[in-house]
Amino acid sequence: MTDNKSVLVISAHAADFVWRCGGAIALHQERGFDVTIACLSFGERGESAKLWKQDGCTLDQVKTARRAEAEKAAAALGAHDIVFFDAGDYPLELKREQKFEVVDLIRKVQPDFMLSHSAYDPYNTDHMYATSVAMECRMIAQAWGHNPGEKVLGAPQLYLFEPHQTEQMGWKPDTFLDITPVWDKKRAAIECMQGQEHLWDYYTNVARNRANHFRRNSGGMAGGRKAEYAEGFQSIYPRTVDEL
Ligand SMILES: [Zn+2]
Repeated sequence: MTDNKSVLVISAHAADFVWRCGGAIALHQERGFDVTIACLSFGERGESAKLWKQDGCTLDQVKTARRAEAEKAAAALGAHDIVFFDAGDYPLELKREQKFEVVDLIRKVQPDFMLSHSAYDPYNTDHMYATSVAMECRMIAQAWGHNPGEKVLGAPQLYLFEPHQTEQMGWKPDTFLDITPVWDKKRAAIECMQGQEHLWDYYTNVARNRANHFRRNSGGMAGGRKAEYAEGFQSIYPRTVDEL
């Protein structure tokens, strides 16, 4: 690893990071952070309907195709690294040993902040499970008694990125990130997701709407900052400050 600041994204399925925090990935990478993306599964069973509609499709073929798409999208965003855990989806389930592998990755990356899904998702329990794994593994990575001698983790913020069908998820953003300078990269990554073309314009609209929130909360009509595209995040842990 380098001395750069770092970010760790924990994505339940191969494509999730693209729609939900592709802008944050590209932006921080441009700003000198090393962004590592961990895909806990390929979304091979649950999020690859278009591939399964082809005759004679096999699980391995779907995994290979989804992996290739995710790698291409990560490259389009300029991500430092992408790691696949192949833990299976629908349902996503990590064994104890696999959780320790996630802990190893967290300790290796030593992220300044982490990104994962909303804490509640009745439509896609894999997503909220991934968040629970992220919090659990963050906790283990902080434990001095886990693999003593290794560098323990500090206290990186965990930002929850915007879910699909936002209003049903109990997700409430408290942070808006202006991703206008890297929008072209996010759109290019979105277009790597050939199997989910129905979502391309949907997530372009989401980014435009969140830019409205960015403008409104950065000063509104009294000097709010112009932003065309933004992403919203909900933070889990308190900030520690010297001034408000
Ligand atoms: Zn997903």
